[in-house]
Amino acid sequence: MIYLDYSATTPVTYDVLESYNKATRDYMGNANSLHALGIKSKVLLNSATKQICELLNINEEELIITSGATESNNTALKGVALAYQNRGKHIVVSKLEHPSIYKICEFLETIGFEISYVNNDKDGLIDFDDLKGQVRDDTILVSICAVNSETGVRQPLKTLRQIIKKENPNAIFHSDITQAIGKVPVNLHDVDMASMSGHKIFGPKGIGILYKNSKVNMIPLIHGSGKFNDLRSGTPPLPLIVALSKALRIALTDLERKEDLVAKLNDKVCKDLEKYPDIKINKTKYSIPHILSISLMNIKPETFVHALEEDEVYVGTNTACASGELSSSVMAIYDDKVRATTTIRISISHVTTNEEINKFLNLFAINYKRLNSLMNKD
Ligand code: PMP
Repeated sequence: MIYLDYSATTPVTYDVLESYNKATRDYMGNANSLHALGIKSKVLLNSATKQICELLNINEEELIITSGATESNNTALKGVALAYQNRGKHIVVSKLEHPSIYKICEFLETIGFEISYVNNDKDGLIDFDDLKGQVRDDTILVSICAVNSETGVRQPLKTLRQIIKKENPNAIFHSDITQAIGKVPVNLHDVDMASMSGHKIFGPKGIGILYKNSKVNMIPLIHGSGKFNDLRSGTPPLPLIVALSKALRIALTDLERKEDLVAKLNDKVCKDLEKYPDIKINKTKYSIPHILSISLMNIKPETFVHALEEDEVYVGTNTACASGELSSSVMAIYDDKVRATTTIRISISHVTTNEEINKFLNLFAINYKRLNSLMNKD
């Protein structure tokens, strides 16, 4: 099999799974229990959360463990909206967000919040002047992703923060860094809040992180008794947290070398795909090499994805969470409906090999030729 859908999810690294298994086997106590088994689990929990905080360079009270980036995004946006609604009801987001952000915004609109969408330029970079104009006195939150999940376009978080804070120092800056962390360096001090997910960094599914600067107030999304953190109730999923700390440590090691490897593979794919006159490569100077969007233009993406699947090659449509729909990000950058409805996403990782890419390009050529000639006959 050739797996090129690492932005949808990643396989769990062997050592990460081992630490999950060990924590499940040897630490069955609830970390909130007062007895010895509970205390034993609590000690492991503390060391895992400490490691996560050290890796992210944040304080322990700034770490909120969630079930994944969808929950982190929900907690951040709804939690801040509810906490600051007396100050204002205006929220700004980009046109390059993950579908979960838009769904949350749709909900917030139903309870009286106003959402503005900031423009980007032809390379996907946030339009700084437009951002400046969109941030108002009643803006309580700005949410802009660090890396777009469809085109890999990366935003300069530090600059965005400066623009936002200059216009309104009280506006909170949240970033969905799910597609950035473990791929490119991210400094959490550039933002007030950040969402991320375990399963995108070779960790388990069902766990994520919300970073929240201690100065930011937030109403919790999940109330309950099993206390993990005042802002997220429930029994701490110890094996998942231990596994996440391990996955994060591995993900943040050797970042530059791994990015170089991926960049070489991305170049190879792009050079090869340039030979197809009809295919558009949705890559800008801000795209990270791990995520490569292309538009097939005259072939339906789902037809192509299923054709490749017959050869055990796995690529994605725009995002796993919005398969087969119009890619809002490609639309926001290229303003071309055909281009935006015919995208497939090839996502590469540092574990991808040259040999896999060669085989992929061969199978791509065979399938493309066949489907393209069928389309031209119609
Ligand atoms: N944000 C981004 C940018 C993503 O790519 C994803 C996963 N497709 C999510 C949020 C949702 O993450 P999770 O599956 O952990 O809920």
